[in-house]
Amino acid sequence: MSASTPIPPMIVLTDLDDTLFSSIRKQGGRSAPAEASTLEVAATLRDGRPISYTSSIQRAFIGWLRRADLVVPVTARTTEAFKRVNIRFDGGAVVEHGATILRADHTSCPVWAARVNAALANEWAPLEALHAQMRSALGPQYSVRLAGDGRPVYLMVKHLDGDEAAIRGAFETLVRPWADHHPGYHLHINGNNLAVMPPSISKRAAVAWLICDLRLAHPGACFVGAGDSSTDWSFMDLCDFAIVPQGSQISGVLGAVLHG
Ligand SMILES: [Mg+2]
Repeated sequence: MSASTPIPPMIVLTDLDDTLFSSIRKQGGRSAPAEASTLEVAATLRDGRPISYTSSIQRAFIGWLRRADLVVPVTARTTEAFKRVNIRFDGGAVVEHGATILRADHTSCPVWAARVNAALANEWAPLEALHAQMRSALGPQYSVRLAGDGRPVYLMVKHLDGDEAAIRGAFETLVRPWADHHPGYHLHINGNNLAVMPPSISKRAAVAWLICDLRLAHPGACFVGAGDSSTDWSFMDLCDFAIVPQGSQISGVLGAVLHG
């Protein structure tokens, strides 16, 4: 490449939780004890208590990402939870598993919101029924709720003690049989997080729409996707390059496929 050749802009689309930062439990699982003292708070709960941390390695990665022309978070977090992330992003963001696209001023993109709301009118009733079924079947040790900004857009289930085997059991006995009769709904399970999204809501759908928009503003741009969960692959697959954290759900799948 000659010195006079202009370098195209680089745009990074990145997941947040377990990609740029992690809970203290997961940090403990993959950090050497000596690194524990280097953890820094990356996100807080509503009451201000820390909930997520960056390791020194994750901060190095974030610093490297900042060399890109634009970094767009693509997260399951609601807008309110996204605002409790301490890392500064200067552009827009995809939040709520793709149900909402935030503009640079953190207001919702009305064009995308109208598309999602129109689709939800036909896709919401089955999810409400699954919500009711899971609330009656699961005990008080589970959080089963319809989550979203102002209006609910997806079903979210967690075990209050972080019992990942119990969440997997709930998925296999309740969600999978339901999904067999409701094709098109997106299922996400990773650790203690179980989510069911309507067909029109996905990180992939929102990123596909956003990339069309960004290509107009940044002709010839190189898109890089980063994420840890299998559901992140749905949008990383739309990018020119993909970055996966070591020890993540995607790296586990890749390792099993490539090395048995
Ligand atoms: Mg993640």
